[in-house]
Amino acid sequence: MPYANMSPDGPYSGVSGCGPGRYSLTGTLQKALPLKDSIELAADALLEHDYVVGLTGAGMSVESGIRPFRGPGGIWTERGEPPLDDYRRFVLNPAAYWRELLSPQGIRHELQSSLESAEPHQGYHAMVELESLGVVKYIITQNIDGLHRKTGSKNVAELHGNHSLCRCVDCGARSDRVDVDTTVLPPRCGVCGGVMKDDVVVFGEPIPRDVGEICIEQTERADCMLLVGTSAYVYPAAGFPLRVAERGRTLVEIGPHPTEISDLCDIVVRGTAAAALPALSRAVAARLVFRSTSDENGKAK
Ligand SMILES: [Zn+2]
Repeated sequence: MPYANMSPDGPYSGVSGCGPGRYSLTGTLQKALPLKDSIELAADALLEHDYVVGLTGAGMSVESGIRPFRGPGGIWTERGEPPLDDYRRFVLNPAAYWRELLSPQGIRHELQSSLESAEPHQGYHAMVELESLGVVKYIITQNIDGLHRKTGSKNVAELHGNHSLCRCVDCGARSDRVDVDTTVLPPRCGVCGGVMKDDVVVFGEPIPRDVGEICIEQTERADCMLLVGTSAYVYPAAGFPLRVAERGRTLVEIGPHPTEISDLCDIVVRGTAAAALPALSRAVAARLVFRSTSDENGKAK
């Protein structure tokens, strides 16, 4: 289990020896490109690689009305960071944790309401399209809103869980939250009788083993990672693109602002997810149509 320790001190941290410019233009030149040209370059890159994995973060869902945790307008920035011992409090007293979770007041309720009312924007539909075209093979998301699944993306690893699910802390079985009986707290697992928790990974809680293993497997398989709206700031997700770069593979970033990982990226598209992803998906689809209707010299069949 060489990747079992998905912590800031684990093998996904401190990667060195990688840098920009492995792609067709050097990082500096490429980053000066207009949006349209960078989308064309990104479309070429997606089609030149065999196994593209998407990594999406808060910037993906912000245009669906979900407030980020940190940064401008962030819930935690405004209301203060939540307790860092959330998981310990759950372990010590799961019933009290559940009472807080079900309370109709407070920051948890506010967050849950915003998640329940969110609707996917066009960028989510573009990710579904890129998957159905056979280009994006898997999506790893740091978001808990479930919007990728709601839109129709099939291969999705929700690294930090899904707000609409509950998970058994013993056997890992998941159920829809609305189906979990909370008349007696804490609720119990229908499979093994263990204690259920909401599926959202809280501070101090290990990443669930099944999801963690998928993320590592997909990161190792990826020859290109498409980063969308992620600041690559929070581990373990931050380690995935670093690992891809360490293996000399390609990183494509989509986001309106420079991030900590931008300098490592081969292609940077400075646009929002809702604007840039549909344009990228159209550019990819147009190339596939051209390929299917042209011979190897680019002439019509
Ligand atoms: Zn169970």
